[in-house]
This record gives sequence, structure tokens and C-alpha cells, in this order.
Amino acid sequence: MNPIARLDHAHVWHPFTQMRDWLRREPVVIVAGQGAVLRDAHGREYLDANSSIWTNLHGHRHPKLNAAIRHQLNRISHSSALGLANEPASRLAARLTDLAHSDRPIANSPKDARHQRRAVKLEISDRKLNKVFFSDDGSTALEVALKLAYEFTRRTRGLKTRPKFLSLTGAYHGDTIGAVSLGHIDRFHAAYGGMLFATDKVMAPYCYRCPFNRAKPDRADARKYRQCSWECVGQMERKLATQKKKGYAYAAFVFEPLMQGAAGMIPQPSGWLGQVTDLARSHGALLITDEVMTGFGRTGVNCHVDDQVVAASLKQPAIAPLFACARAGVQPDFLCLAKGLTGGYLPMAATLTTQKIFDAFLGEYEEFKTFFHGHSFTGNQLGAATALASLDLLQTEKSVRQRALLQMAMSQELQTLWSRPNVGDIRQVGLVAGIELVKDWRTRQPFDVRKQAGIRVCEAMARRGVLTRAVGDVIVLMPPYCTTRPQLQDMVAAISASLGEIS
Ligand code: PMP
Repeated sequence: MNPIARLDHAHVWHPFTQMRDWLRREPVVIVAGQGAVLRDAHGREYLDANSSIWTNLHGHRHPKLNAAIRHQLNRISHSSALGLANEPASRLAARLTDLAHSDRPIANSPKDARHQRRAVKLEISDRKLNKVFFSDDGSTALEVALKLAYEFTRRTRGLKTRPKFLSLTGAYHGDTIGAVSLGHIDRFHAAYGGMLFATDKVMAPYCYRCPFNRAKPDRADARKYRQCSWECVGQMERKLATQKKKGYAYAAFVFEPLMQGAAGMIPQPSGWLGQVTDLARSHGALLITDEVMTGFGRTGVNCHVDDQVVAASLKQPAIAPLFACARAGVQPDFLCLAKGLTGGYLPMAATLTTQKIFDAFLGEYEEFKTFFHGHSFTGNQLGAATALASLDLLQTEKSVRQRALLQMAMSQELQTLWSRPNVGDIRQVGLVAGIELVKDWRTRQPFDVRKQAGIRVCEAMARRGVLTRAVGDVIVLMPPYCTTRPQLQDMVAAISASLGEIS
């Protein structure tokens, strides 16, 4: 066994991993990366098909990102944000607030357009996200939003109120206690029930397994052939109304926009997000959007790839918005970012919010209205400098074109998987796709969990030189934006060939 693998086996405890299974085989030890390729200690190369757990945007060892880190290293790596300002963090905060302002929403359908016009009418400028609180990762970005929303609600509705949060079935927002309280994945969260505070959940629009979808299984994304009457929106309306009748509305509705990740790559049918966020707002709830996975262009470019449209997209960011909420014309009160913020190079997170929330924490020193929260590495210079370089890259014509082409290539290449009887649903949103494996597509019957279908397919893919992780039995395809068409074809071919393991 490789000596590093031996050290790992002796001492490292891996996240979300059954360590008994881990210790049975030699782990892949990554020693280098370039673009979409990772190299292990034996010199084997792998394609990074889940962008190193959804973090990497432009590929590994990108010269511009490496240069930004080196440049910053020559000045300073870190100084505290407790009592001190610094240049990269200030510049990054200004840049993020600029990008997060979605006043030019895009319509995907006539129904969307109605919602979006309404959203615009709600005087978006009032809710401009112009304040940024930096932290370290997705979980802490959510904790910050939760604590701010909680205290804002108490200060505006009365200090005796006990603000309550609403999130989606299957929700996953991180692993710290507040984030876990918002989560609704029993497998991850049930054990810690005693440590958590109560939150409510409302039905997520999981069209493929929706009890209200009357359509028989078909060989297409279930959102396209579903037959329903938007019962999921009705459920949201009832939930909000019931809570309001109790005398106090939800403090906030917390959601991943356009696609829920760890829930199983569950995409939202066009129009759902606008409807439920309008409802939540009209019932007095703040909107906390978790774009830890969906942010920084992951939900796609809204254009056909021709020169004019790509060029226009640079002048009108709405065509290639970096955030899913902006794509859907939804203006949240909190926007949580992490993972891709630094292009996936360094741990850093940001929680954006409005002047109104900020103002509720202003007061005389002795009133102690201060937001008593912070982390040692808040506003870290290396992270912020890398994030600025990553945003520069994202906003180039080359990147917009690259993303548009990759998105179209994914939608074409994934079609080949419909011929496989164990593929139940293929759901793509922009540059991320989930492929749900089932015993038989005609019945949608899932595999027995003991079969570990998702894990086994991913292990077989690794033997074919493609790395990803499944969420349950959903195989995740989320390539770095620099992935070439032949590399993408290899990724999809590896999925296809590896399905043989479970049929
Ligand atoms: N929110 C979402 C949507 C996530 O996907 C994740 C992590 N996968 C988190 C929050 C937590 O982020 P982190 O692991 O960086 O704490």
C-alpha cells in the first residue's frame, strides 16, 4: 500500500464515510490536478466528475487563480477581521453585492414572466443585498443567516416571540447544529434530534416521486411529462396559513433555488420557485436562499450559443446570471455562498443581506445590539483574493461560452443513458445533473439500500477513471467548467458502462 494511504488508514476519519468499508481497500491518494483531471499517487489519472464535491469551477491549477494566490501571499495571507479591514475582502464584498442584484430577471415561461414582473414590482431596490458577512464554509454561511433572521424577527416582532423556520423536505444545509436543524434527511439528521431546535418542513417539488404526479413513468425528465395541479404550491400555501393562524408567521423560508443538491439533485419545475417565494413573502416570512451548490453559474447560462447572444450576455448579466435566484427573478433577504466562491480553491463563505437587516443591529454600544458572531478566518485575504480572480474568470466571454457549450453538451450526451433500464430519471439544471438509478424504470421501484447501488456504480466508475459520489442512488454529474466534450463523453460512458454492476 502507498505510504500516504497507510497514514490515512491509521489516522484520518473521513466525512460521510462508513470507515469500516473505507479501511477494507487502498484509498485513492490524490497528488496533483490539472484542469478537469486529478492524478493519484500511482500516477493514475481520473476525471473530476463532481468538481471535487461541487466546489471547483474553472479546473485545477488554473494559472490565473494560482497567480492571484501567489500575489496575495507576497503581501499577507491573513489578518483578523475583528477590528481590522483589508483590501481583498472589501473589494470582494462590493463585487458580490453588485452581482447579487437581480433586477433583470429572465422569463422561462409566460407563467414565470408574470411572477418575475411581480417580483420586480416589489421594489427590489429596497431589498438590495448590500451587506456581506464572511465566514468559512457552507454551514457557517447558513448559521449566520439563521442567527441574523432569528434576531431580526425578535427585534421587529417583539422579544418574546420565538421565531420559527420553514424548509423543504429532503433539505440539507450543512452539518453544524443550526444548519442540521433546517435539514430533513433522516439518514443524516435523526440521531441528533435531541440537540436540534424544531423547524417545519414543506413538500419539495420532487416531480419524479411526487404522489400527486399522475403520469406514468416515461423516458424523459419527470418535470416535462408530469401531470398535476401544482399541489406542492397548495401545500406551501396551507403550511404558511396554518402557521400564521397560530399568531406568528414563519421568520423565514430557507431553500436551495432551482435544484436541491444533497436531497438527491431534485430540480424544481419552472415557475415553482416564484410561486412559493411570493407566497412566503406575502405571509411575512423572510427568504433565505442557500446557493452553496447552485451559485457561481452552476445553474447554467440562459442562451443559445451563438456569438451575438454570448457577447450580449456579458453586457446583460441577466442572460448569464451567476446566481440561481437571479435566474428565477427571486430577490432573497439572505444569500448564502461558499464552495465555488473561491473557484473551489480555499474555504471561504459569505452571507449577503439587506440594509434593513443590518440596521436592526445598530445601536449604542451599551445596548448590545451588536451581532455577536465571528470566526477566526472571517474575511481571509488569500480566500478573498482568489474569489476575486474567480469572478474575473466567470465574467469573461470565454467562460460564458464555455459554460453554454458544456451545458448543451451535457444535455445531448446524457440522452444516451435513457436506453438503460436502471435509469429512472435524468434531471439536469444548467451544469449539474442527477441520474436516479432504480430497479426498473417502468415501476420507479428503488433498489434495496443494502445493495448500495449508487456507491457501487461510483466505485466502478472510479475503476474506469472517473470520480464522483452518489447521493443515495442518484449519480451526480457536475463537471468543472473547463471540461472538454471528449472528457464529458468519457464521464457519461463511464456511468453507462458501470451500470452493468447493478443490473
Ligand atoms: N448547503 C448546501 C446546499 C450544500 O450542498 C452544502 C454542502 N454540500 C452545505 C450547505 C454545507 O456546506 P459545507 O460543507 O461547506 O459546510
